[in-house]
Amino acid sequence: MNKKYEAVIGLEVHAQLLTDTKIFCGCSTKFGNEPNTNVCPICLGHPGVLPVLNKKVVEFALLMGVATTSKINTTSIFARKNYFYPDLPKGYQISQYEKPICEFGTVEIEKKDGTKKNIGITRIHMEEDAGKSIHDRGETTSIDVNRCGVPLLEIVSEPDMRSAEEAYLYLAKIKQLVQYLEICDGNMEEGSLRCDANISVRPIGQKEFGTKAEIKNMNSFKNVERAINYEIKRQIELIEDGGKVIQQTLLWDADANEAHPMRSKEEAHDYRYFPDPDLVPVEINVEWFDELKAKVPELPDAKRERFISAFHLPVYDAEVLTQSKELANYFEQVANVTNDYKAASNWVMVEVLKVLNEQKINIETFAVTPQNLGGLINLIQQGTISGKIAKDVFAEMLETKQTAEAIVKEKNLVQISDTSEIEKVIQLIFDANENQVKEFLDGKEKVFGFFVGQTMKATKGKANPQVVNELLKKKFESLKQ
Ligand code: ADP
Ligand code: ZN
Ligand code: MG
Repeated sequence: MNKKYEAVIGLEVHAQLLTDTKIFCGCSTKFGNEPNTNVCPICLGHPGVLPVLNKKVVEFALLMGVATTSKINTTSIFARKNYFYPDLPKGYQISQYEKPICEFGTVEIEKKDGTKKNIGITRIHMEEDAGKSIHDRGETTSIDVNRCGVPLLEIVSEPDMRSAEEAYLYLAKIKQLVQYLEICDGNMEEGSLRCDANISVRPIGQKEFGTKAEIKNMNSFKNVERAINYEIKRQIELIEDGGKVIQQTLLWDADANEAHPMRSKEEAHDYRYFPDPDLVPVEINVEWFDELKAKVPELPDAKRERFISAFHLPVYDAEVLTQSKELANYFEQVANVTNDYKAASNWVMVEVLKVLNEQKINIETFAVTPQNLGGLINLIQQGTISGKIAKDVFAEMLETKQTAEAIVKEKNLVQISDTSEIEKVIQLIFDANENQVKEFLDGKEKVFGFFVGQTMKATKGKANPQVVNELLKKKFESLKQ
C-alpha cells in the first residue's frame, strides 16, 4: 500500500440464525426445500396479517450481545425499511433502526505480530431476510421466496479497522463467536454469514475520514481480503490521479478479481424507516435475561487462556485447538485420557486436522474417537511403540476404528527395546555389509544413517530408534579399537 495513505474499514455482517422457524411466522427455515414452499401469508406480506416475533431470535441476539460485551437495550423497536425489489414481496423489510437490541460492543483481535486491538461494534440488530432472485435459468429470472422472513442478526462495526488483515481477523472472530454460541453455522460459501465492507482511505495524519465505498457479494474470507485490498488500491490511485471517491455500492466479481459499481449509495431517508405498527416494542425481562446469560458457553478467548494455563500449551497450539468449540472439546477428551498434553496437541493439530482437510469432514464425524487417540499416545509415552509405528497404527485406526492396543497386539507391533535382540540384528547387518562398515571406519560418517535404516528395516520398524543408535555407536567404537 502507498505509504502516504491509511485505509479505514467498517464491516456490516449478516448472520443467518439457526432457528427452526422464521422470525415472524411458523414457516420452516430449512434450506434447499422446493422453491416457494416454505411460505405463508405472513412472510409473503399479504394484507391484514400480523407478524409474531420468534422468541428464539431475541435469545440469539442477546447471546451475541453478551459475547461482544454490548450494552443490551431493555426496550428495542422494529422498523420497516421500505424499498422495492422483486424478491421482497412486502415492499419492505422488517428491521431495527433507531433502537436496536444491542449497542456499543467490542471484540478483540490479535494480529500476526502478536499485537492486540479492540474493534468496536456499533450495533447488533434483528431483521428478516429477503427472498432470492435466480438469474441462471435461461432468459427469465425466477424468484424463490423461501428465504423471506428467515431471521438475521446484523452486526455493524465501527470504522476501526485499518487493513484487510484486521478486517479478516475481525470477521473470523465474529464467525467464531456465532459458532461457539451455536446461533449461526458461519458458512460464508453458503451465504449464512455475509459481509459487506465499507472502505475509505485518507492521507496519514488526516483526522477526517474519506468518502467510503461499500463492497458486497464476497462469499469467502479470501474474497473479503482480496476485495478490500482491491478497493484500497483503487481509491488511492484515483486520488493520486486527481480524482474523487464517490459514495457508491460495488459488487465483487471473484472471477475477474475486481469490483463493479452496482448503484450509487442510497441514504437512510430513501428507505423511509418508521416503527412497524404491527409489532410492539421488544421488552427484555431481566430474570429471563439472567437465565440466558448463565447459558453463555465458555467463549474462545477464555478457552484459549485456559488451554494455555491448564495444559501448558504454547499460545499457537491453544489458538489452533480453540478455533472451533468441537475441536476444543475433542482435544479436551484426548487430554482426559493421556497426560502428555503437548503430544495430544501435536496429534490433533497435525494428524487429525490433516485428515479432516483431506476428507473434507468435521471433527464430529472423525473416525478415531478421542479416547482411542489418547490410548495411542499413551502407548508411545510408555515406549510400547515408536512414534513412527504410531503413524501406521493411526492410519489403521482410521480404517478399522479399533483401539491402538488391539491393533498393536494383532499386528505384533510392540517396540523392541531388548538390547540383545537388536544386537543380534546389528551383527547380521554388519556381516552382510562389510564395505559400508569399512567406509565408516575410514571416516565416512554419513554411512551411519545407512546402518540405522537397515536395522529399522530388518526389525520392520519395531526397534526402538534410540536404542538402535546407541548400540550402533557402541559397536563401531568397539571396532575402532
Ligand atoms: P450508511 O449510512 O452509509 O449505512 P453508516 O454510518 O451506517 O453508513 O456505516 C455503515 C458502515 O460503514 C459501518 O460499519 C461503519 O463503521 C462504516 N463506515 C462509516 N463511515 C466510514 C468511512 N468513512 N470509511 C469506512 N467505513 C466507514
Ligand atoms: Zn411464513
Ligand atoms: Mg447504515
